Formats: sequence, C-alpha cells, structure tokens
Amino acid sequence: MKTERIMLETNKIEKKFGGLTAVNSVDMRVYEGETIGLIGANGAGKTTLFNMIAGFFKPSSGKITFMDKDITGLAAHKICHMGIGRTYQIVRPFASLTVVENTMVGAMIREKDVERARKRSEKILKFLGMEKRMNVVGKDLNLPELKRMEVARALATEPKLLLLDEVMAGLTPTDSAVFIELVRKIKDSGVTIIIIEHVMKAVMSLSDRIYVLNQGKLIAQGSPQEVAKSPEVIKSYLGEKSRVEKL
Ligand code: ATP
Repeated sequence: MKTERIMLETNKIEKKFGGLTAVNSVDMRVYEGETIGLIGANGAGKTTLFNMIAGFFKPSSGKITFMDKDITGLAAHKICHMGIGRTYQIVRPFASLTVVENTMVGAMIREKDVERARKRSEKILKFLGMEKRMNVVGKDLNLPELKRMEVARALATEPKLLLLDEVMAGLTPTDSAVFIELVRKIKDSGVTIIIIEHVMKAVMSLSDRIYVLNQGKLIAQGSPQEVAKSPEVIKSYLGEKSRVEKL
C-alpha cells in the first residue's frame, strides 16, 4: 500500500559520459509502497539512472535521497545494506552453483551464518515458485528460470526498494504474464518497486505511476493512462500507433 512517506528522491540528477549527457537533470519521487514504471526508448538513460541510485555510477551532479538519507555517490554495497536491491538486465549466474546457492550470494549480504542464509534463500525461492528447482545448477536453467533466480537473489538482500531492470525481456507472452503476477506478489508483500520494462502490458498493469525518459530527460510522468495519452510520449516512444492501444 502506498503511504505518504517519500522513500526515494532524485534531485536534478545527472550523468555525463564524456560529451554525452546520459541522464539530464532528472527529478523523481517515489513513495513507500508504490510501484513506479520507468520507460523510454533504447539509450534513454534508464539503466544509467538505476546505476546511480544503486551506487554503481557516481552522479556527475545532483542529489539522491533514500529514506531521508543522502546516498549520493555512496558505494553500491552500502546502498544495498541500506535497503536498495536490484536485478541486472543481463543475468550472470554462478554457473556451477545451484539456484539456492546463487540466491545465498544475496542473502549473505545480511546473514553471515551460512545455514540461516540457506533457510532464508529457500523461503524466498518458495515464495517465487522455484522450490522444485532449488538444487539445479545455474547453467541448466532456462531464461524464465534465470530471471526468476535473479529476482530471488535481489530479494534475498531484503530490499525496501527493489529496482527491476527488464526482467521480462526475451520472455514469451505466457512467461511474461506469469512474471507480472510474480511482481504483483512482491509488491503486495510491501516492497516498493521501480521497474524498467519494454513489455508495455507489464508496465501499464503494475505501475501506480510512470516516469518517461527520452535522451536523458524526463518528458512525462503520471498515471499509466495519463502517460499513454501524452503526445510527446507517443511521439518519442510508444509510436503513432500506440503500443498500449494494441494491447
Ligand atoms: P536500454 O533500454 O537499451 O537498456 P537505457 O534507457 O537503459 O537503454 P542506458 O543504458 O542508460 O539507456 O544508456 C544511456 C546512454 O548512455 C546511451 O547512449 C549509452 O550508450 C550511454 N552509456 C551507458 N553506459 C555507459 C558507459 N558506461 N560509458 C559510456 N556511455 C554509456
């Protein structure tokens, strides 16, 4: 459930790579309990924004506040400890480790006792419907399973805020539909979520609000219905024959 408490705020956040401004003065506000969609064409700056929030890139300028604390430029492990978890667009599991062991890599950020980390990981994998695949090694997983394990690893770090970076990319519509329900379940468990996704059905049905980036700049924000009607969003991303209308 959304509350009035601001969980994350970016203030004129910016990232430059040489002459390219990948993220250009972006102001964003996320309330506790919300699910926020972050959309935009390829190269719009979405992952770069995630990388700054999660501490993988130092912003060139601007400020990021999480739970009333300035986290701008803090190291990734510190930000993870504070309660921001993330998935990666390209899933790189430890191929020879089992699903539960891969998940434990996330759990051990908080829990140093191996057995307790295992128990916690098993619980998360059950929550995500992976209990039958817990002892399969990473290299034997198919794409939907890999994506699910990636989410499990992120959840094992016990995030208050979860950043999901294209977890549905490459999935069939059937597998995406299953994933949408999974994200809804995570949302219902009380985790605040920002989701980068090109699968519009997922973004539209899961998001309370959506932010739209284009060439590093925020061009629109609002409810899914508002954003889908925005002429600028249609022009720069959704296309004249809106992808949303076709759903
Ligand atoms: P996609 O939907 O394709 O994942 P995106 O919206 O996540 O795109 P980013 O990956 O954030 O976009 O990239 C934004 C811009 O910044 C792109 O022009 C990209 O080439 C550039 N960029 C991203 N990371 C780096 C980097 N480490 N060094 C230099 N340029 C980068």
